[in-house]
Amino acid sequence: MSSILVIAEHRRGELRPVSLELVAAANELRAAGEQVVVGLIGKNAHAFVAAVSKEGVDEIATVTAPVEDFDPDVSEEAVRALIAQYSPSLVLIPHSVDSYGYVAVLAAKDQLGLATDVYKIAREEGGWVATRGGYGQKVAVELDFPGRSCVCLAVRSGSYKPNEAAASPTVTAVDVPALQARSTPLDYIEVSAGGDVDITTVPFIMSVGRGLGDEANLPRFKELAEQVGATLCCSRPIADSGWLPKSRQVGQSGKTASACKLYIAMGISGAIQHLAGMKHVETIIAVNTDPQASIFNVAKYGIVGDIFEVADALEQEFS
Ligand SMILES: Cc1cc2nc3c(=O)[nH]c(=O)nc-3n(C[C@H](O)[C@H](O)[C@H](O)COP(=O)(O)OP(=O)(O)OC[C@H]3O[C@@H](n4cnc5c(N)ncnc54)[C@H](O)[C@@H]3O)c2cc1C
Repeated sequence: MSSILVIAEHRRGELRPVSLELVAAANELRAAGEQVVVGLIGKNAHAFVAAVSKEGVDEIATVTAPVEDFDPDVSEEAVRALIAQYSPSLVLIPHSVDSYGYVAVLAAKDQLGLATDVYKIAREEGGWVATRGGYGQKVAVELDFPGRSCVCLAVRSGSYKPNEAAASPTVTAVDVPALQARSTPLDYIEVSAGGDVDITTVPFIMSVGRGLGDEANLPRFKELAEQVGATLCCSRPIADSGWLPKSRQVGQSGKTASACKLYIAMGISGAIQHLAGMKHVETIIAVNTDPQASIFNVAKYGIVGDIFEVADALEQEFS
């Protein structure tokens, strides 16, 4: 039976949320009768079974690793064994520091199709088509994989919305003998985006776009964001102009507002590349003078109006 294999990722005893996003992607992409199998690799792989038992998962395959922490050699061998066992046409792997360590080697050795940092996947007559950025994220590139019966895609987090509905898939222990780790992690250092806040983890974002008009208007919105308890982020033109650091840019070539529950878009048109980083957010409030702006298509609440007038009102309300 044909299948799509999802490789779940965990770190320090916690399932990484991107794993469930990939389950949702597999579910969306599966053909009738195709199985979705989730591969769990780890010393205590079984401990994550409940966390990945979601609607759309047919089977969970656990591989017991000799070490607790991620090791590239172990993952390469384990994924190879899972591919041999399930013969998937598509393998979805999180695009992460872990997968950087083994997915290219695996694909090169085993002649698999490969694309990394993918944010959109389609199934066409000729096979899988993956979309990712190219030329420094200036263009969107569509890749196909002629002649490859199995394609590995490392998918950017935030590209798919996870499905939280629980299910009871079959669990199979896959024995992969002689797995050997060659690395020993010394320490974990939390990423802090060059001293800046990590916008993928914050629950409330106020984002400014070109509607801001001038850099001189930025301090006002910095203060306003602070006043309402939001993290100030931006669209690409604002980061490209150097008004806010690149680490605050939301979108395809920026970051995904993965943990965000409330997103206020101020003077942002809603270009598809910006939406890629925030359209999944539960509550989006958009402020734009143009009633036809695309941002209103994803917003739960919309204000057709001037961001400076809305800022006046919010300042009064929160002062
Ligand atoms: C490969 C590629 C990758 C990209 N990656 C990203 C990315 O990661 N993130 C990203 O954001 N963009 C990205 N872009 C750029 C994207 O295509 C848009 O150009 C960008 O998102 C537009 O930003 P904006 O909405 O701030 O500006 P604009 O499109 O110029 O929109 C400004 C909006 O403000 C409104 N406005 C003006 N004045 C006011 C006012 N006083 N009050 C209220 N509203 C007002 C206008 O009506 C308009 O809708 C990428 C482009 C490419 C090609």
